Amino acid sequence: MTTFGIDLGTTYSCIAHIDADGRTVISKNADGDEVTPSAVFFESASNVIVGKQAKLVAKISPDQVVTLIKRSMGQPGVTLTFHGVAHTPESISALILKELVQAVEQTTDEKVTDVVITVPAYFGIREREATRNAGVIAGLNVLNLVPEPVAAALHYEALSAGQDQTILVYDLGGGTFDTTVIQMRGHDISVVCTEGDHELGGADWDERIAGWLLERFMADNPESGAQQSEEFLQQLANEAEDIKRSLSRMEAKGHSMSFDGGKARVELTRVELERMTADLLDRTFQMTQRTIDTARQKGVTTFDQVLLVGGSSRMPAVVAGLRERFGFEPRLTDPESAVAKGAARFALIESVKIALPDRDDRTDAEPAAVSVVAAQLGISTEQVETLAAKRVTSVVPRAFGVQVQNKRHPDADGDGNIVDHILRANDALPAKPPTRQYYTSSPDQTEIELPVYEQAGEVESARVDANRQIGTGLISGLPPLRQGSPIDVFVEMGETGALRVRAVELTTGREALVELQVDGLTQAEVAQARIAVAQYAVGN
Ligand code: ADP
Ligand code: MG
Repeated sequence: MTTFGIDLGTTYSCIAHIDADGRTVISKNADGDEVTPSAVFFESASNVIVGKQAKLVAKISPDQVVTLIKRSMGQPGVTLTFHGVAHTPESISALILKELVQAVEQTTDEKVTDVVITVPAYFGIREREATRNAGVIAGLNVLNLVPEPVAAALHYEALSAGQDQTILVYDLGGGTFDTTVIQMRGHDISVVCTEGDHELGGADWDERIAGWLLERFMADNPESGAQQSEEFLQQLANEAEDIKRSLSRMEAKGHSMSFDGGKARVELTRVELERMTADLLDRTFQMTQRTIDTARQKGVTTFDQVLLVGGSSRMPAVVAGLRERFGFEPRLTDPESAVAKGAARFALIESVKIALPDRDDRTDAEPAAVSVVAAQLGISTEQVETLAAKRVTSVVPRAFGVQVQNKRHPDADGDGNIVDHILRANDALPAKPPTRQYYTSSPDQTEIELPVYEQAGEVESARVDANRQIGTGLISGLPPLRQGSPIDVFVEMGETGALRVRAVELTTGREALVELQVDGLTQAEVAQARIAVAQYAVGN
């Protein structure tokens, strides 16, 4: 059975698989496009429309269309109600997934069940969990998640001779930006460090252009009231994107606007566009610089390749800036589809690993088993061996720690609380840092609460408000402890990013495995959403 790779993007999504001849195939949607806008239009209580049409409808009925939902993935308590049905970022993402799956099932005779979904490398635990749940809600079997830059690197590796190299991935998409350093050594692909901003992307460029268009329109038609028209503004937003794309090729683009009898004709030049968005581009370069610095601290000083991913990296200013500021000669290969194509390769790797019985030592798999898998997947035995040997390792996406009291700490809040980070961003996975010891803060405690936090901002800080609580651990049923009783806390993160917190109360010797419940949808909520989503007819 074929396993599919899905790039569930902030603005565009894409699905791919590797066919029986080893070729990467992108399934086009019903519009004939390789990428589908991640826009969902709730037309009625039973019908949703995903993609290009939904994006266009946003013009007329912005209240019924959801875009950029990926930015809300993993944020607790986000619900959006349409026609009396409450939706979460997970269930809305599930509708996008359903649309992609349908496109495959309508254009090929494949049935989509097993999938791998991509996530930004800097996605934290909650965002990853939410993405996995979106897949489950869509009725899919999510074999694994793969970081987007790793997928891009896998695709690039498939195109190149596969020699050892260090790659810097610069991914400027529609709503997010990230930079990642990846090393490829033999069968190993490992993330060295990564950083991302999910409030920076092509949509910000569109917004600047739309703002400029409105300004120009209002200058010519001051009494028109156009700035109050939701419809007009939405129209400008869509046109802004088209103008931006045109300016990646042309040096100037003319544009006409009309509203309620008022008219304006303007021309935007590439030079002007670059001037009014210079600060946005500069933010990407600052993050690139930080990533380069972090990589240097980890001993990586040269890059064999700079890969440009994401549709927005088609803007000429990106290549020019990277060349000028860093001396890079970046490579732009399939910026919109590299992630989905690499995800398809990762999906194949996963299916080989699952199919091979000896999962711990895959390099010595039984030749007979290899042949069976090769026949099952329709690939050669050599390919099975190569794929089975691939190892992808990532890093801790953000710092993790527990909230403790430390009144003397300069970052302590009014109650004397800080977040003590036990795992640092970019620690290699699996990460098993040494045990930390803490002491109970009040007399006669019979339970110990361990609020677990992850870094919220771009830079690590012990301030509680610079972190986000992702769950709570509890050791209960203890005999009343004297104040200052020692507790050992172990935090570890497995290869796939699963977090485990364990605590031992030392005076009683009582060991408590703190099962961390990551805040997010419960199993029951996921099951319920799955039923609700299954009832929609999804079209485009
Ligand atoms: P994501 O993965 O964030 O969903 P993509 O990688 O598909 O996004 O990139 C989408 C973004 O790329 C959109 O903002 C789109 O306007 C922009 N884009 C696509 N083509 C071009 C182009 N030729 N010039 C400038 N921007 C482009
Ligand atoms: Mg993307």
